[in-house]
Amino acid sequence: MTLVFDLPDPLTLPIQFSDRRFPVGRIFCVGRNYAAHAAEMGNEVDREAPFYFTKSAANAVQTGAEVPFPQGTEDFHHEVELFVALGQSVGSSDEDPLDAVSGYGCALDMTRRDLQIRERKKQRPWDLGKDLENGSVLGKITACKDWVGPGGQSIWLDVNGQRRQAGNLDDMVWSIAELLRHLSGFYYLRAGDIIMTGTPAGVGAVNPGDVITGGVTGLSDVKLTLMP
Ligand code: MN
Repeated sequence: MTLVFDLPDPLTLPIQFSDRRFPVGRIFCVGRNYAAHAAEMGNEVDREAPFYFTKSAANAVQTGAEVPFPQGTEDFHHEVELFVALGQSVGSSDEDPLDAVSGYGCALDMTRRDLQIRERKKQRPWDLGKDLENGSVLGKITACKDWVGPGGQSIWLDVNGQRRQAGNLDDMVWSIAELLRHLSGFYYLRAGDIIMTGTPAGVGAVNPGDVITGGVTGLSDVKLTLMP
């Protein structure tokens, strides 16, 4: 087959203690999964059901990336998140959806907050705020067997070495099993899918030249550098 032009190679992520890499398929993100973050955004947590948005894998980068400050925003925010990497499909009637999880990692859900809020007020989609180039930063994956979590671990984010976000995975409103069970009723979840599980309180603006580092106890850190 001859293509009329070449596409960039798909994103793959390193795996701790392994020579193999994880090919990234789709990226699903959970909104308002920590009550304190929902409150700082002026919202209440919806206890009825979680909600989602998606970010393109084509716009995602690996930890360690150095990227330009994005266009079109004057309020570019950091959000640190635990992500789940699926190694097999999940059906909505699966007994234990966690069986499909191959590993976990730390992610940054970078957000043009001014655009997200502007569009939200107009009841428009969030894409301009959320699905921007280099807008998802994904860390090295740790296989389930190599991590005791999730349960009780700290989640944190530093900008230029100063702590900005600090939370605990136990404060997630919806557990990973609940999220997988719910989301699999809307999508045929499959190997390669990534689910970003929401951010704790303390989100805020970053500037050109900033170095953003996020972590979860026991997992490999995620790092992003914004070009000066
Ligand atoms: Mn987020």
